[in-house]
Amino acid sequence: MSEAPILRDTARSKGRDALQKNIQAALALAEAIRSTLGPKGLDKLLIDDDGRTLVTNDGVTVLETAKVEHPVAKMMISASSAQDRVAKDGTTSTVILAAEMLRNAWQLILQGIHPSTIARGFRKSEQFVLKSLEEISLQASEDMQKTVVETSLAGKGHSSMQETIADISLRAVKMIADGESIDPTKIKLISQTGGRVEESSLVQGLMLPKKRIASEMPKEISEGKILLIDGGLEKRGVKGDLKLNVTDTGVLESFRQQERVLLKSQVDKLVEYGVDVLACKEGIDDDIRDYLVKNNIQAFRRVSRNDLNMLSRACGAVLVNSISTSRVDDLGGFKSSKNISLDGKDFWVVEAVGKAATIIAKGSTVDIIGEVERCFDDSLGVSVQLIEDGEIVCGGGASYVALARKLRRFAETMPGREQLAVEAYADAIEVIIRVLAENAGIDPISSLIDVVAEQTNLHSDHIGINLTTGKPANMLELGVLEPTGIIKQALIGATEVSISILRIDDVLWARQDIEAPVSPQSDM
Ligand code: ADP
Ligand code: MG
Repeated sequence: MSEAPILRDTARSKGRDALQKNIQAALALAEAIRSTLGPKGLDKLLIDDDGRTLVTNDGVTVLETAKVEHPVAKMMISASSAQDRVAKDGTTSTVILAAEMLRNAWQLILQGIHPSTIARGFRKSEQFVLKSLEEISLQASEDMQKTVVETSLAGKGHSSMQETIADISLRAVKMIADGESIDPTKIKLISQTGGRVEESSLVQGLMLPKKRIASEMPKEISEGKILLIDGGLEKRGVKGDLKLNVTDTGVLESFRQQERVLLKSQVDKLVEYGVDVLACKEGIDDDIRDYLVKNNIQAFRRVSRNDLNMLSRACGAVLVNSISTSRVDDLGGFKSSKNISLDGKDFWVVEAVGKAATIIAKGSTVDIIGEVERCFDDSLGVSVQLIEDGEIVCGGGASYVALARKLRRFAETMPGREQLAVEAYADAIEVIIRVLAENAGIDPISSLIDVVAEQTNLHSDHIGINLTTGKPANMLELGVLEPTGIIKQALIGATEVSISILRIDDVLWARQDIEAPVSPQSDM
């Protein structure tokens, strides 16, 4: 049967042609973020349809904001997003690694090696480097922790900003750490424009930009119970198309009166439970406010769903739909619930029974605060990994070069064509040190050669590139260190996406207006 009727209005590229186009798209994408890698990486200015701007050095932010249509480029972006979710850091590296793996694979394909042979070689390489990565890992001492977090902020903002963010992130994670388990969602980030990044601070407990609904309510309560409602304390009123035939002027008043009685009975239930603080997602009627005041209840309305969820985790409270359906077991506990004013703004600070922390991030402009938030996101992720397992490796390209050296020795033991694929993988992971050097204005090839020579001479996996002097240096001494988990995830993500792209040999496009971006690298 002819395929024509089925594939009408479908553009199709097959075999090597399809693969070439896909690899070109992947390379073009990596090219777009290559210049942001490392401490000397530059920033990107992103402008959206409405003219809003965003200045960032964060690879995944560039990719997720850019309008990318090509399906293969989208696969690369999801690899970077996955890295962001799992490891927080290493998002640019993932894309650069994947693109380099594909570039080298293409050279092998031109020599007549089948993509599945390459995929098999890549898979074996991945297994080998992950094992080697464990072997070259070190355990971070308490002193090293801050250095590691600072490395994750390299190239983002200035050095005193990195120091502040690293310090606060580590303290925040330690504040919420509960033995083995660390749940970063227990950390809330509030950002404020105005002031310098160095003025950012950390508060124990949850701090929400909220004010109690009446100043007559207690300002500060210590040791008490809290109820969280995913609704409000409002009169329902008459909604929809319902027609109310009012035959007597008193009817409407008595209707309202009844609703008031109903609401009051709900407050009575709170009193019976011994609730000290009430937080609702929706409104609280003015009528009922005085009744809450009379009963010494501190109440907050229009608390966001997100904040209610955080309160629920920290206080051990169950978020209920309404007071009438609540049970006494749904209440949570807190050590203190205070209303404070900071820089002229009102805040509600809850020190919960469970652990929680709030970071107040500051920055002078909207652009800066945006980047500060992204930095906190990265450095919190890195801090969590550090406190959880503490395994680290040397940065500045040192670990990738060490892994490539070991992988080449492993390749020699392999038979046949897979050996070429393993060597191609080893070459590919050296891309990181080359790009780091390139972005620092240092010759990438001699940097790589010098580092490989120095590692071999000194039998050290800790030698990477000092981007200030352009010479090989011991990264352990220089304090350029990264959690092992980030490199591990970057290698897994890059291998995964490059293999998936290599396996595609037929592309069917329903729409014909998608064009493969042309790689600026003509010699791929
Ligand atoms: P990613 O999104 O992949 O995390 P970054 O722009 O954060 O990209 O750059 C991370 C790379 O920069 C890592 O390979 C790290 O080892 C390297 N790096 C960070 N600080 C230094 C430094 N002071 N000297 C050399 N390399 C560094
Ligand atoms: Mg980084």
